[in-house]
Amino acid sequence: MRQTLVAGNWKMNGSKESIQTLLEGISTGMSDVANTKVVVCAPSIYLPLVSEQLADSDIGFGAETISEYEVGAYTGEISAAMLNDFSCQYVIVGHSERRSIYGEQDADTANKYAAARNAGMTPILCLGESLEEREKGITEEVVSRQLDAVLSQEGVESLADAVIAYEPVWAIGTGMTATPEQAQDVHKFIREKIATMNADIADKVQILYGGSMNAGNANDLLGMADIDGGLIGGASLKAEDFLAICKAG
Ligand code: PEP
Repeated sequence: MRQTLVAGNWKMNGSKESIQTLLEGISTGMSDVANTKVVVCAPSIYLPLVSEQLADSDIGFGAETISEYEVGAYTGEISAAMLNDFSCQYVIVGHSERRSIYGEQDADTANKYAAARNAGMTPILCLGESLEEREKGITEEVVSRQLDAVLSQEGVESLADAVIAYEPVWAIGTGMTATPEQAQDVHKFIREKIATMNADIADKVQILYGGSMNAGNANDLLGMADIDGGLIGGASLKAEDFLAICKAG
């Protein structure tokens, strides 16, 4: 039985004050969240604050990206060791905004995934097709290519301590959620693909859905057999909205 995981991706939002208020709100509501693991992924500069505020909490936290390099002349980058210094537990890798805005390629994502794992953190590996790719009928091909880039380098066994997030790009921040059936089809495809390499890992790996998940659609999405949680952007910025998703899990 896979535990439900709901992770917030705050992106480039928030301030010292708003983050403090948000975390207080989420912490207060956690008594009503039964079996779901709750995680927040914050802009790196706020991780010390988040780490301090969540010190005695069951809420996990993570970063939104990581450098693939260990140390050195990489201006503006944050290394795995630096994230470790603040007890960071999760790292989002391969988010579509990193791929499309910053030109991160499949190989970069694989290196970031490796950097996170090598430092003992859990990568949340994002996969997903654009609208054009869906309309061309190549969703499975795209998701396969993105997954293969990581597994050919790091091996299927690496998924024992990783999380996958299926995020159709056309659903991110658009309010256009995939239907539960559309999402389930891709989740099932991903799990079956992994099962051809290692059935035990396929059975255990958590596959989250991301793309305009909110309080209104979370129940139906999380009720699908292969959807094990959510990666939440916009709705993770308000405690009430985020908690409603966490409670649905
Ligand atoms: C995301 O950015 O990972 C995401 C799922 O965003 P939203 O929930 O706003 O679509």
